[in-house]
Amino acid sequence: MNIHEYQTKELLRGFGVPVPNGRVAHNVDNAATIAEDLGGERWVVKAQIHAGGRGKGGGVRVASSLEEVRQFTDEMIGTYLVTPQTGEQGRLVQRVLIEQACKINKEYYLGMVIDRATQRITVIASASGGMNIEEVAKTDPDRVIREAVDPAIGLAGFQCRKIAARMGLAGKQIGEAAKIMQALYRCFRDKDALLAEINPLAAIDEGRLMALDAKMSFDSNAMYRHSDIIELRDFDEEDVKEVEASGHGLNYIALDGDVGCIVNGAGLAMATMDAISFHKGRPANFLDVGGGASPEKVGNAFRIVLQDPNVKAILVNIFAGINRCDWIAEGLVQAMRDQDIQVPIVVRLAGTNVEKGAPILKASGFPFIMADNLDDAATKVVAVLEAAA
Ligand code: ADP
Ligand code: MG
Repeated sequence: MNIHEYQTKELLRGFGVPVPNGRVAHNVDNAATIAEDLGGERWVVKAQIHAGGRGKGGGVRVASSLEEVRQFTDEMIGTYLVTPQTGEQGRLVQRVLIEQACKINKEYYLGMVIDRATQRITVIASASGGMNIEEVAKTDPDRVIREAVDPAIGLAGFQCRKIAARMGLAGKQIGEAAKIMQALYRCFRDKDALLAEINPLAAIDEGRLMALDAKMSFDSNAMYRHSDIIELRDFDEEDVKEVEASGHGLNYIALDGDVGCIVNGAGLAMATMDAISFHKGRPANFLDVGGGASPEKVGNAFRIVLQDPNVKAILVNIFAGINRCDWIAEGLVQAMRDQDIQVPIVVRLAGTNVEKGAPILKASGFPFIMADNLDDAATKVVAVLEAAA
């Protein structure tokens, strides 16, 4: 789960990371009032979307008057901002962060991720921060510093000082950077984050360090214990179908082929997609109905999968343990009755109550294509697509 820059900064401020004064605005008047309250002569107007690279796309602009704050806000809100990370359709800007503009002497990079190989939170830092860090990492990986944190000890002071020295910091800045690293680490650990990134961490007037941009994402599976973070979720930034699915207790993942997959369990989803790919088909998505799927849940699953216009056929693959094949079958029949389903449906049922499920499908009179096993199902779904093409 991702959150916006202004929310990340608010959170990090609470942990002791220095960030510029600023507030989020939803309209032009709001923006001007905030700038006036902040005082000073220069402000930065920053588009709030869940994508980086905004500076390169015109989503970060320095205003030298209240008039400019209004103008830039007006130009950003309501438009689709295209950055190197959004794809060409861009992202709709619905709010902007208005904050004090700082005079920057140098930009550093400071981030944390969970490194799967070492299974540790790993600090990533560089003296070459700012808008081109991705290129630096590619062309000059030696300029990227990595330091793994032992979970039993936490991020130790000596590690912070070592990283800071390698970033080229000196004197008072070393202690300051160490404090920022410790604060970021505490926030990362306490809030079950997967990624945190301060880019740039800027040296501003008198050498003070400040986080001018901040991004965090969190482990969705741990959000049940962080009600404060869940509140920050912005549904407008997420795939509508994925949001609808999660509202019904379903997991939906969008892909780019033409076979819709309705399955139970993530492992079975992987096997189903492998089988489809093996037979030279391409999954359009997969929807995991989970255990104990009621007929209503199955109906919702169809509705969501069919919202994707690329879906030309559906493969239902259920290996019922906790689930019951008769319930799934009832759900399938009900979906056919309630919804205008034009695409062919291949069904493979196995496990609990399969002897009750298959007859329900047959008796319904709907043209379900029955399959004996997964391989048969994948073969049949690819065959119907080929026949239709
Ligand atoms: P993105 O990473 O999406 O491009 P940033 O927030 O990093 O957006 O902004 C891009 C650049 O704009 C930064 O690298 C920094 O040089 C400048 N910038 C951002 N915020 C401020 C600020 N408050 N004061 C001065 N410059 C800023
Ligand atoms: Mg940035």
